[in-house]
Amino acid sequence: MAEGRIMKAISGFYYVKSGDNVFQCRGRGVFRKQKITPLVGDFVEFDGDNPEEGYIHSIKSRRNILIRPPVANVDQVIIVSSAIMPDFNPLLLDRFLVLIESKEISPVIFITKKDLLSDKELESISVYQKLYREIGYSVELVSSRALEEPDHLKDYFSDQISVIAGQSGVGKSSLLNAVNPSLELKTAGISESLGRGKHTTRHVELVEAGNGLVADTPGFSSLDFNEIIAGELGDCFPEIVDLKADCKFRGCFHKKEPGCAVKQAVTDGQIASSRYDHYLRFLDEINSRKPRY
Ligand code: GDP
Ligand code: ZN
Repeated sequence: MAEGRIMKAISGFYYVKSGDNVFQCRGRGVFRKQKITPLVGDFVEFDGDNPEEGYIHSIKSRRNILIRPPVANVDQVIIVSSAIMPDFNPLLLDRFLVLIESKEISPVIFITKKDLLSDKELESISVYQKLYREIGYSVELVSSRALEEPDHLKDYFSDQISVIAGQSGVGKSSLLNAVNPSLELKTAGISESLGRGKHTTRHVELVEAGNGLVADTPGFSSLDFNEIIAGELGDCFPEIVDLKADCKFRGCFHKKEPGCAVKQAVTDGQIASSRYDHYLRFLDEINSRKPRY
């Protein structure tokens, strides 16, 4: 029995990479009976006697699963946000950060289109860069037109499975092309699937970027918080996690409770008011969600 990782899944076939070889495999019938779908990113045991007619026998336990794109064992999500055109959007950035944190995946922030900024605009973006770095996130301000430190950016992809996220037009495809020119992804927001044209059968593939792998379909098309409960929202904000033990009440929502260390930190300027405002907004959104039966 050989071991490998599923790189691509198309209509019932799984392409499993093992060493330098790729094996075309089907899943065992028992998977269907048990309603188990092998996913891109899965580590599997397979019978690879014939490179065209392999069979996947078992799937190793998964660290996590993303629904869109359907990928298992994701190490990090690279959130791409443009500095301008479209304007930098801290609310949307925080939304992505919360969704990624809730899945216990590491987020990284790439802010693109640096080359289009005036000195004054560069200054205001730098304030955000500092803010998010202080929270503990890696933040890179880049121009995909002229990558100043391509090797430094490539390092982010090394030995990991990454998924790219970000609204249309922020420069996701351009960034991947800059990191790995052989990808030749079409740019200018041609389609959701990083410029590869609309697929009739939805499939996802892991492609090389830097010394790692990235899903060729961007993540998180739906940005609602359906899977997050109110009591867990604070855990998706690292600066709140740091302070919540100091709140007077256990289970503090950091909203109107007396003796709240988080609110005090906002007053003291230790927590950015934009972040706290977004926390309250997301909390309202979760609390006003209709119960599902
Ligand atoms: P996607 O929809 O997120 O994949 O965005 P694209 O990569 O298709 O980029 C959208 C548009 O922004 C294209 O016209 C790109 O040429 C342009 N663009 C992307 N990154 C940069 C950048 O860093 N600087 C400049 N000036 N333009 C960029
Ligand atoms: Zn509190």
